[in-house]
Amino acid sequence: MKSVRQIIRENSIKPIKRLGQCFLVDFSVMKKIIEIADIKRNETVLEIGSGLGLMTELAAEKAAYVYAVEIDKKLTSLLNENLSNYGNVVVVQENILNYKLSLAAHESSKEKIKVIGNIPYNISSPILFHILESKENVSAAVIMMQKEVADRLCAVPGTKAYGIPSVLFGLYTSISREITVSPSSFYPEPEVMSAVVKILINNKPLFPVKDETLFSRIVRTSFAQRRKTLLNNLKCADWHGYDLKKIQNLLGDLGISEKRRAEELSIQDFAKISNAFKIQ
Ligand code: SAH
Repeated sequence: MKSVRQIIRENSIKPIKRLGQCFLVDFSVMKKIIEIADIKRNETVLEIGSGLGLMTELAAEKAAYVYAVEIDKKLTSLLNENLSNYGNVVVVQENILNYKLSLAAHESSKEKIKVIGNIPYNISSPILFHILESKENVSAAVIMMQKEVADRLCAVPGTKAYGIPSVLFGLYTSISREITVSPSSFYPEPEVMSAVVKILINNKPLFPVKDETLFSRIVRTSFAQRRKTLLNNLKCADWHGYDLKKIQNLLGDLGISEKRRAEELSIQDFAKISNAFKIQ
């Protein structure tokens, strides 16, 4: 099998920074990601940013189907060429943020899909939320990301890293940090440490939430300015008839002090607040 550097040289590929192109060169890390994803014969895998397609190949050997979503036209033609032996790979030239993950789920089988990828770090947050928004169609995701982003996903209340992703992912998923990967495993080398995270999407949220959109809006508003108190953040938004006094009463009734900051509240606290709002 050719090395990544060889493929890059032979095809005169110049990694594009804007597209977050840091290719994995360490084959053992690719294998590890596939191992962590625990792909079953009947499963469909969607890979985000397939790049040169080496990990795609490993996935294709395990899965029923692999959807390789890659934005770069030069790379998708290379992928089509290099993966032509695999009848179960579909190369999709598309921005992942505009690609409905449910498409991969419906076209192949009724099973939920698994998502894998060494994703472009500059858009890792939007990609992660894109996966979360498709939680009905996804069973798990194994993603390489910047270490700090992994820290935020796994953070607990009262820590600096705790924020919107910790709460929103915490409600719907079980997250484990699998491995830490140093810059030398990539070409070109990123300036940051990386981590592979496994995100298992649960069938039920950790706490019942009546209105998921409202829950998400309350979490986002509460963290809008981290140094402000919960009340001062909440009062900045329009809650359809909930004026300052009503929000104060609502928090008081729940026994949650309005002077606390969002970073001190648990996922359950946010669920309680959101369930207490009566908004049509
Ligand atoms: N998985 C490969 C490449 C990782 S680099 C490897 O590990 O070697 C990130 C990849 O994501 C690049 O190939 C880049 O072209 C692609 N990419 C960047 N933005 C994207 C987007 N919005 N949608 C899909 N792919 C994207």
